[in-house]
Amino acid sequence: MNNEEYLEFIKVRNKNRTVTDSELQDAISKAKLIFEANHKPTVHFERSIFINWTCAIADCKYCYLSTKPKHKAGTQSTALRSHESILAEALICKLMGWKIGYITGGLRVESVDQIIELLKKLNQVNQKKNLMNFGPYAHSEIKKLKPFTGGMGSAIESFDEELHDFICPSKPLVTLRKFLTHLQTEEMHKLITIILGLGENRDDINLVSENITKYDINTVQLCFLKPQADTVFETVPAPDMNYMAYWVAQLRIKHPKLKIKVALVKERMDDLHLLLEAGANGFSRFLCFKEFAQEQACTLEIECEKANRQLVGNFTSLPNFDIEAEVAKLPFDAELKAKILPKAEQYYLKLKKLAKKASS
Ligand code: SF4
Repeated sequence: MNNEEYLEFIKVRNKNRTVTDSELQDAISKAKLIFEANHKPTVHFERSIFINWTCAIADCKYCYLSTKPKHKAGTQSTALRSHESILAEALICKLMGWKIGYITGGLRVESVDQIIELLKKLNQVNQKKNLMNFGPYAHSEIKKLKPFTGGMGSAIESFDEELHDFICPSKPLVTLRKFLTHLQTEEMHKLITIILGLGENRDDINLVSENITKYDINTVQLCFLKPQADTVFETVPAPDMNYMAYWVAQLRIKHPKLKIKVALVKERMDDLHLLLEAGANGFSRFLCFKEFAQEQACTLEIECEKANRQLVGNFTSLPNFDIEAEVAKLPFDAELKAKILPKAEQYYLKLKKLAKKASS
Protein backbone atom coordinates (compact mmCIF):
# COMPACT_ATOMS: atom_id res chain seq x y z
CA MET A 1 0.00 0.00 0.00
CA ASN A 2 1.40 3.43 -0.85
CA ASN A 3 0.44 6.61 1.03
CA GLU A 4 -2.35 7.55 -1.40
CA GLU A 5 -3.92 4.08 -1.22
CA TYR A 6 -3.61 4.16 2.53
CA LEU A 7 -5.41 7.52 2.78
CA GLU A 8 -8.24 6.10 0.66
CA PHE A 9 -8.36 3.05 2.93
CA ILE A 10 -8.63 5.29 6.01
CA LYS A 11 -11.43 7.33 4.45
CA VAL A 12 -13.48 4.18 3.87
CA ARG A 13 -12.76 2.89 7.38
CA ASN A 14 -13.62 6.25 8.94
CA LYS A 15 -17.08 6.17 7.35
CA ASN A 16 -17.73 2.90 9.17
CA ARG A 17 -16.71 4.08 12.60
CA THR A 18 -19.80 6.15 13.38
CA VAL A 19 -21.36 5.55 16.79
CA THR A 20 -24.86 6.92 17.28
CA ASP A 21 -25.96 8.65 20.49
CA SER A 22 -28.27 5.78 21.39
CA GLU A 23 -25.52 3.16 20.81
CA LEU A 24 -23.22 5.17 23.03
CA GLN A 25 -25.79 5.68 25.78
CA ASP A 26 -26.57 1.98 25.80
CA ALA A 27 -22.86 1.10 26.15
CA ILE A 28 -22.31 3.78 28.82
CA SER A 29 -25.22 2.61 30.95
CA LYS A 30 -23.69 -0.90 31.12
CA ALA A 31 -20.11 0.35 31.56
CA LYS A 32 -21.09 2.74 34.36
CA LEU A 33 -22.46 -0.06 36.54
CA ILE A 34 -19.33 -2.14 35.98
CA PHE A 35 -17.08 0.80 36.80
CA GLU A 36 -18.98 1.57 40.01
CA ALA A 37 -18.71 -2.04 41.16
CA ASN A 38 -14.96 -2.23 40.57
CA HIS A 39 -13.36 1.20 40.97
CA LYS A 40 -13.30 4.19 43.30
CA PRO A 41 -15.30 7.24 42.11
CA THR A 42 -12.10 9.26 41.66
CA VAL A 43 -10.14 10.41 38.63
CA HIS A 44 -6.41 11.07 38.40
CA PHE A 45 -4.18 13.05 36.14
CA GLU A 46 -1.13 11.02 35.12
CA ARG A 47 1.71 13.13 33.79
CA SER A 48 3.90 11.51 31.13
CA ILE A 49 7.45 12.63 31.81
CA PHE A 50 9.46 12.98 28.62
CA ILE A 51 13.16 12.28 29.01
CA ASN A 52 14.20 13.10 25.45
CA TRP A 53 12.91 14.64 22.23
CA THR A 54 14.45 12.41 19.61
CA CYS A 55 14.11 8.82 18.41
CA ALA A 56 16.40 6.21 16.91
CA ILE A 57 13.42 4.72 15.01
CA ALA A 58 11.78 7.95 13.83
CA ASP A 59 9.61 6.53 11.05
CA CYS A 60 6.21 5.80 12.65
CA LYS A 61 3.96 7.62 10.23
CA TYR A 62 1.71 9.36 12.78
CA CYS A 63 4.43 10.55 15.13
CA TYR A 64 5.81 14.05 15.42
CA LEU A 65 9.32 12.63 15.87
CA SER A 66 9.11 11.04 12.41
CA THR A 67 9.36 14.59 11.00
CA LYS A 68 12.63 15.18 12.86
CA PRO A 69 16.15 13.83 12.18
CA LYS A 70 16.68 10.27 13.38
CA HIS A 71 18.81 9.90 16.51
CA LYS A 72 22.10 8.09 15.93
CA ALA A 73 22.80 5.62 18.73
CA GLY A 74 25.84 6.47 20.80
CA THR A 75 26.00 10.13 19.81
CA GLN A 76 25.61 12.97 22.23
CA SER A 77 22.32 14.73 21.71
CA THR A 78 21.01 18.08 22.79
CA ALA A 79 17.57 16.44 22.76
CA LEU A 80 18.37 14.53 25.97
CA ARG A 81 16.84 16.06 29.06
CA SER A 82 18.95 16.63 32.18
CA HIS A 83 18.19 14.56 35.26
CA GLU A 84 17.77 17.68 37.38
CA SER A 85 15.02 18.95 35.09
CA ILE A 86 13.19 15.58 35.15
CA LEU A 87 13.50 15.28 38.93
CA ALA A 88 12.33 18.87 39.46
CA GLU A 89 9.24 18.23 37.32
CA ALA A 90 8.52 15.02 39.23
CA LEU A 91 8.79 16.86 42.56
CA ILE A 92 6.35 19.58 41.49
CA CYS A 93 3.91 16.95 40.19
CA LYS A 94 4.07 15.15 43.53
CA LEU A 95 3.44 18.37 45.46
CA MET A 96 0.48 19.22 43.21
CA GLY A 97 -1.11 15.79 43.67
CA TRP A 98 -0.50 14.73 40.07
CA LYS A 99 0.63 11.18 39.45
CA ILE A 100 3.56 10.28 37.23
CA GLY A 101 2.08 7.98 34.58
CA TYR A 102 5.47 6.87 33.27
CA ILE A 103 8.71 8.10 31.80
CA THR A 104 8.73 8.10 28.04
CA GLY A 105 10.31 9.53 24.91
CA GLY A 106 11.86 8.32 21.68
CA LEU A 107 13.22 4.79 21.47
CA ARG A 108 16.81 3.62 21.76
CA VAL A 109 18.16 6.99 22.78
CA GLU A 110 19.43 6.24 26.31
CA SER A 111 21.25 3.04 27.26
CA VAL A 112 19.57 0.68 29.73
CA ASP A 113 22.18 1.70 32.33
CA GLN A 114 21.33 5.38 31.84
CA ILE A 115 17.63 4.65 32.30
CA ILE A 116 18.33 2.65 35.46
CA GLU A 117 20.36 5.55 36.82
CA LEU A 118 17.44 7.91 36.19
CA LEU A 119 14.81 5.52 37.58
CA LYS A 120 16.76 5.07 40.81
CA LYS A 121 16.61 8.83 41.43
CA LEU A 122 13.05 9.29 40.22
CA ASN A 123 11.83 6.46 42.45
CA GLN A 124 13.35 8.31 45.42
CA VAL A 125 11.42 11.49 44.56
CA ASN A 126 8.18 9.60 44.14
CA GLN A 127 8.81 7.00 46.82
CA LYS A 128 7.53 4.36 44.46
CA LYS A 129 8.75 2.56 41.36
CA ASN A 130 7.87 4.42 38.19
CA LEU A 131 6.59 2.86 34.99
CA MET A 132 8.36 3.26 31.68
CA ASN A 133 6.66 3.50 28.31
CA PHE A 134 9.40 2.85 25.76
CA GLY A 135 9.08 -0.66 24.38
CA PRO A 136 10.04 -2.91 22.85
CA TYR A 137 13.00 -4.20 24.85
CA ALA A 138 14.82 -7.54 24.68
CA HIS A 139 14.21 -10.05 27.47
CA SER A 140 17.74 -9.55 28.86
CA GLU A 141 17.15 -5.78 29.06
CA ILE A 142 13.77 -6.26 30.76
CA LYS A 143 15.39 -8.45 33.41
CA LYS A 144 17.99 -5.77 34.02
CA LEU A 145 15.35 -3.02 34.31
CA LYS A 146 12.86 -5.04 36.34
CA PRO A 147 14.18 -4.24 39.86
CA PHE A 148 13.91 -0.50 39.17
CA THR A 149 10.60 -0.08 37.37
CA GLY A 150 6.97 -0.46 38.39
CA GLY A 151 6.15 -1.87 34.96
CA MET A 152 6.76 -1.42 31.30
CA GLY A 153 4.79 -0.70 28.20
CA SER A 154 4.78 0.51 24.67
CA ALA A 155 2.66 2.22 22.10
CA ILE A 156 1.17 -0.75 20.27
CA GLU A 157 -0.85 1.57 18.01
CA SER A 158 -3.00 -1.26 16.59
CA PHE A 159 -3.17 -5.05 16.85
CA ASP A 160 -4.10 -5.22 13.16
CA GLU A 161 -0.73 -6.46 11.92
CA GLU A 162 -0.95 -5.15 8.36
CA LEU A 163 -2.13 -1.75 9.49
CA HIS A 164 0.41 -1.62 12.31
CA ASP A 165 3.40 -2.49 10.17
CA PHE A 166 2.42 0.00 7.50
CA ILE A 167 2.25 2.75 10.13
CA CYS A 168 5.39 1.67 12.05
CA PRO A 169 7.68 -0.06 9.53
CA SER A 170 10.70 -0.19 11.87
CA LYS A 171 8.76 -1.30 14.94
CA PRO A 172 6.84 -4.35 13.70
CA LEU A 173 4.00 -5.82 15.74
CA VAL A 174 5.83 -9.12 16.10
CA THR A 175 8.58 -7.46 18.18
CA LEU A 176 5.97 -5.76 20.36
CA ARG A 177 4.21 -9.09 20.89
CA LYS A 178 7.53 -10.66 21.96
CA PHE A 179 8.06 -7.77 24.35
CA LEU A 180 4.63 -8.33 25.96
CA THR A 181 5.36 -12.06 26.27
CA HIS A 182 8.63 -11.32 28.08
CA LEU A 183 6.83 -8.93 30.44
CA GLN A 184 4.34 -11.70 31.12
CA THR A 185 7.13 -14.17 31.87
CA GLU A 186 8.59 -11.66 34.31
CA GLU A 187 5.12 -11.07 35.83
CA MET A 188 5.46 -7.32 35.43
CA HIS A 189 2.80 -4.61 35.17
CA LYS A 190 2.00 -4.21 31.48
CA LEU A 191 0.82 -1.02 29.83
CA ILE A 192 -0.19 -0.63 26.20
CA THR A 193 -1.18 2.44 24.23
CA ILE A 194 -3.72 2.07 21.45
CA ILE A 195 -4.13 4.97 19.07
CA LEU A 196 -7.55 5.46 17.54
CA GLY A 197 -7.99 7.11 14.16
CA LEU A 198 -5.10 5.39 12.36
CA GLY A 199 -7.42 3.30 10.20
CA GLU A 200 -8.90 0.80 12.65
CA ASN A 201 -12.62 0.05 12.68
CA ARG A 202 -15.13 -0.58 15.43
CA ASP A 203 -14.61 -4.34 15.37
CA ASP A 204 -10.99 -3.85 16.34
CA ILE A 205 -12.26 -3.41 19.91
CA ASN A 206 -12.61 -7.21 19.96
CA LEU A 207 -9.07 -7.65 18.66
CA VAL A 208 -7.67 -5.34 21.34
CA SER A 209 -9.77 -7.06 23.99
CA GLU A 210 -8.47 -10.53 22.97
CA ASN A 211 -4.93 -9.25 23.33
CA ILE A 212 -5.60 -7.64 26.70
CA THR A 213 -6.65 -11.08 27.90
CA LYS A 214 -3.86 -12.92 26.06
CA TYR A 215 -1.07 -10.80 27.54
CA ASP A 216 -2.81 -10.06 30.83
CA ILE A 217 -2.53 -6.31 30.27
CA ASN A 218 -3.03 -4.15 33.39
CA THR A 219 -3.34 -0.66 31.89
CA VAL A 220 -4.60 0.52 28.52
CA GLN A 221 -4.05 4.05 27.43
CA LEU A 222 -6.30 5.20 24.60
CA CYS A 223 -4.94 8.03 22.51
CA PHE A 224 -6.77 9.67 19.67
CA LEU A 225 -5.08 10.67 16.44
CA LYS A 226 -3.72 14.17 16.58
CA PRO A 227 -2.90 14.87 12.92
CA GLN A 228 0.68 16.17 12.73
CA ALA A 229 1.93 18.53 10.05
CA ASP A 230 4.24 16.94 7.46
CA THR A 231 2.91 13.43 8.08
CA VAL A 232 0.54 11.31 5.98
CA PHE A 233 -2.12 12.00 8.62
CA GLU A 234 -1.96 15.78 8.24
CA THR A 235 -5.40 15.94 6.59
CA VAL A 236 -6.97 12.90 8.27
CA PRO A 237 -9.80 13.92 10.60
CA ALA A 238 -9.42 12.83 14.23
CA PRO A 239 -12.12 10.52 15.66
CA ASP A 240 -15.19 12.10 17.28
CA MET A 241 -16.09 11.87 20.95
CA ASN A 242 -18.87 9.29 20.52
CA TYR A 243 -16.41 6.89 18.93
CA MET A 244 -13.79 7.48 21.62
CA ALA A 245 -16.27 7.02 24.47
CA TYR A 246 -17.65 3.88 22.79
CA TRP A 247 -14.18 2.30 22.85
CA VAL A 248 -13.76 3.16 26.53
CA ALA A 249 -17.20 1.74 27.38
CA GLN A 250 -16.64 -1.49 25.45
CA LEU A 251 -13.25 -2.06 27.06
CA ARG A 252 -14.75 -1.36 30.49
CA ILE A 253 -17.58 -3.85 29.85
CA LYS A 254 -15.18 -6.54 28.64
CA HIS A 255 -12.50 -5.88 31.30
CA PRO A 256 -14.05 -4.71 34.58
CA LYS A 257 -10.74 -4.45 36.51
CA LEU A 258 -8.62 -2.96 33.72
CA LYS A 259 -7.14 0.47 34.30
CA ILE A 260 -8.16 2.68 31.39
CA LYS A 261 -6.45 5.99 30.77
CA VAL A 262 -7.44 8.44 28.08
CA ALA A 263 -5.38 11.18 26.51
CA LEU A 264 -7.24 14.48 26.79
CA VAL A 265 -8.23 16.16 23.56
CA LYS A 266 -8.17 19.90 24.07
CA GLU A 267 -10.78 20.56 21.37
CA ARG A 268 -13.22 18.13 22.95
CA MET A 269 -12.89 18.97 26.63
CA ASP A 270 -16.60 19.78 26.85
CA ASP A 271 -17.39 16.11 26.36
CA LEU A 272 -14.82 14.68 28.76
CA HIS A 273 -17.62 13.51 31.06
CA LEU A 274 -18.58 10.95 28.40
CA LEU A 275 -15.17 9.27 28.66
CA LEU A 276 -15.46 9.19 32.44
CA GLU A 277 -19.02 7.89 32.41
CA ALA A 278 -17.82 5.23 29.97
CA GLY A 279 -15.38 4.02 32.63
CA ALA A 280 -12.01 5.75 32.21
CA ASN A 281 -9.96 5.84 35.44
CA GLY A 282 -7.61 8.67 34.62
CA PHE A 283 -6.27 10.94 31.96
CA SER A 284 -2.98 12.12 30.51
CA ARG A 285 -2.00 15.02 28.23
CA PHE A 286 -3.27 17.83 30.43
CA LEU A 287 -0.65 20.50 29.73
CA CYS A 288 -0.24 21.31 33.38
CA PHE A 289 2.47 23.93 32.97
CA LYS A 290 0.42 25.80 30.37
CA GLU A 291 -3.17 25.13 31.30
CA PHE A 292 -3.06 25.18 35.10
CA ALA A 293 -5.89 27.40 36.43
CA GLN A 294 -6.85 28.35 32.86
CA GLU A 295 -10.06 27.68 30.95
CA GLN A 296 -9.18 24.06 30.23
CA ALA A 297 -8.51 23.35 33.91
CA CYS A 298 -11.88 24.86 34.86
CA THR A 299 -13.61 22.74 32.21
CA LEU A 300 -11.79 19.70 33.55
CA GLU A 301 -13.22 20.27 37.02
CA ILE A 302 -16.73 20.85 35.67
CA GLU A 303 -16.59 17.72 33.51
CA CYS A 304 -15.40 15.53 36.39
CA GLU A 305 -18.20 16.85 38.54
CA LYS A 306 -20.73 16.15 35.77
CA ALA A 307 -19.53 12.55 35.74
CA ASN A 308 -19.73 12.35 39.57
CA ARG A 309 -16.01 11.82 39.90
CA GLN A 310 -13.72 13.36 42.47
CA LEU A 311 -10.76 14.91 40.65
CA VAL A 312 -7.59 14.24 42.65
CA GLY A 313 -4.92 16.97 42.76
CA ASN A 314 -4.78 20.72 42.25
CA PHE A 315 -5.82 22.16 38.90
CA THR A 316 -7.20 25.60 39.63
CA SER A 317 -5.80 26.60 43.03
CA LEU A 318 -2.12 26.73 43.89
CA PRO A 319 -1.01 25.64 47.35
CA ASN A 320 1.80 27.58 48.97
CA PHE A 321 4.97 25.47 48.94
CA ASP A 322 8.44 26.20 50.28
CA ILE A 323 10.30 24.80 47.28
CA GLU A 324 13.72 25.22 48.87
CA ALA A 325 12.62 23.15 51.87
CA GLU A 326 11.02 20.52 49.62
CA VAL A 327 14.21 20.14 47.57
CA ALA A 328 16.29 20.03 50.78
CA LYS A 329 14.24 16.99 51.88
CA LEU A 330 15.23 14.98 48.78
CA PRO A 331 17.67 12.13 49.51
CA PHE A 332 20.37 13.36 47.09
CA ASP A 333 23.80 14.88 47.54
CA ALA A 334 24.19 18.65 47.86
CA GLU A 335 25.45 19.02 44.28
CA LEU A 336 22.39 17.39 42.70
CA LYS A 337 19.99 19.26 45.01
CA ALA A 338 21.66 22.53 44.03
CA LYS A 339 20.95 21.70 40.37
CA ILE A 340 17.34 20.63 41.03
CA LEU A 341 16.40 23.73 43.05
CA PRO A 342 16.45 26.38 40.25
CA LYS A 343 14.56 24.01 37.94
CA ALA A 344 11.89 23.28 40.55
CA GLU A 345 11.59 27.01 41.25
CA GLN A 346 11.11 27.65 37.51
CA TYR A 347 8.28 25.11 37.33
CA TYR A 348 6.63 26.53 40.43
CA LEU A 349 6.98 30.06 39.07
CA LYS A 350 5.19 28.99 35.89
CA LEU A 351 2.27 27.76 37.99
CA LYS A 352 2.30 30.96 40.07
CA LYS A 353 2.13 33.09 36.91
CA LEU A 354 -0.77 31.04 35.57
CA ALA A 355 -2.60 31.31 38.90
CA LYS A 356 -2.05 35.08 38.89
CA LYS A 357 -3.26 35.36 35.28
CA ALA A 358 -6.41 33.45 36.20
CA SER A 359 -7.18 35.75 39.14
CA SER A 360 -6.55 39.02 37.27
S1 SF4 B 1 9.19 4.69 18.03
FE1 SF4 B 1 7.78 6.00 19.21
S2 SF4 B 1 8.82 7.98 19.34
FE2 SF4 B 1 9.86 6.82 17.71
S3 SF4 B 1 8.84 7.45 15.83
FE3 SF4 B 1 7.79 5.63 16.56
S4 SF4 B 1 6.06 6.38 17.81
FE4 SF4 B 1 7.52 8.10 17.51
